[in-house]
Amino acid sequence: MKEVYSFADLQQWETVTAGEAPALRLAVLGDPVAHSASPQMHNAALEKCAIDARYVRLHIRPEELAETFRLLPQKGFLGVNCTIPHKAAALPLMTRVDEHAQRIGVVNTVVVEGDQLLGFNTDGPGLVRAVRAEFGVDLRDLRVLVLGAGGGAGRAIAMQCGLEKCERLTLVNRSPGKARELAAELAPFFRGPRVSGPGERLVALPWEEAALRTALETTDLVIHCTSVGMQRTDPSPLPSAILQPHLMIYDTIYTASRTRLMQAADEAGARSANGLSMLLHQGALAFEIWFNREAPLEVMRAALVAATAGR
Ligand code: NAP
Repeated sequence: MKEVYSFADLQQWETVTAGEAPALRLAVLGDPVAHSASPQMHNAALEKCAIDARYVRLHIRPEELAETFRLLPQKGFLGVNCTIPHKAAALPLMTRVDEHAQRIGVVNTVVVEGDQLLGFNTDGPGLVRAVRAEFGVDLRDLRVLVLGAGGGAGRAIAMQCGLEKCERLTLVNRSPGKARELAAELAPFFRGPRVSGPGERLVALPWEEAALRTALETTDLVIHCTSVGMQRTDPSPLPSAILQPHLMIYDTIYTASRTRLMQAADEAGARSANGLSMLLHQGALAFEIWFNREAPLEVMRAALVAATAGR
């Protein structure tokens, strides 16, 4: 089994994977994708449940995505996950999309059923479970700031905050128009009297230090959803000087056990967690969608921890 398969490999799948047992029938599609720990997590689950399939990484460029989805049913795939930058682009390529994913506009889990492609999103529900596991609190009770509300993960998480009707939601994105558009879309979720403290229940803010500093004073949970921090040389997306000890900081990045943002949180005396728990719970939910059975959560967690140890 290769570490990463290419689009060219997919085109010759029967030849390239000849002799592989169990057959390679699940994958994560991304660009880049080499960092993904999903194969270790899902292969541990597949083995534990004695399911006759294995999960691999497929490096698919944006211009190859449509043809990839056309090929998957022919090549015997049961399903795939989509990661950066394919989650939004995957949606119109589906035969059907479940209501939750449709609402979010982002697909991260695909079931291949005959020649049909069924799209789902497990990132938002996975995040809810992760926040509960990491901090012992429910998203719906919190004043949340989503940093990076313009990307696939940020959008899914902001939508989930809307569906959960969390106390307050602040959206921040490098390209501010995307955060404003998302706020307009989410407005119906935030009508009504449930407000803790002064201020609007839903706001889009520019990514500016002074605005962020003020917003953080009345924020409980920061969810970081940009790709800043995936590379070792990246800085923290927020400087420690504007973080405060009362904050819970959830960094969706899981490529390091202590991300730059978590280090900044430490300096500020704030609690923090990396994205491993979200990856785990969105993966467990995807497994349940593919196989209609409970996922072996502890086996998956141990595999993820082993896969990311020392990063
Ligand atoms: P995406 O759709 O490509 O979105 C990227 C986001 O990052 C956008 O909001 C973009 O802002 C922002 N961004 C990129 N470079 C930036 C920079 N230099 N400064 C400020 N903002 C920048 O990617 P995605 O799929 O949403 O993934 C985003 C992050 O979520 C990744 O770090 C990924 O690891 C993480 N994630 C984790 C899990 C998990 O299970 N733990 C699941 C999904 C994603 P613009 O809109 O301005 O371009």
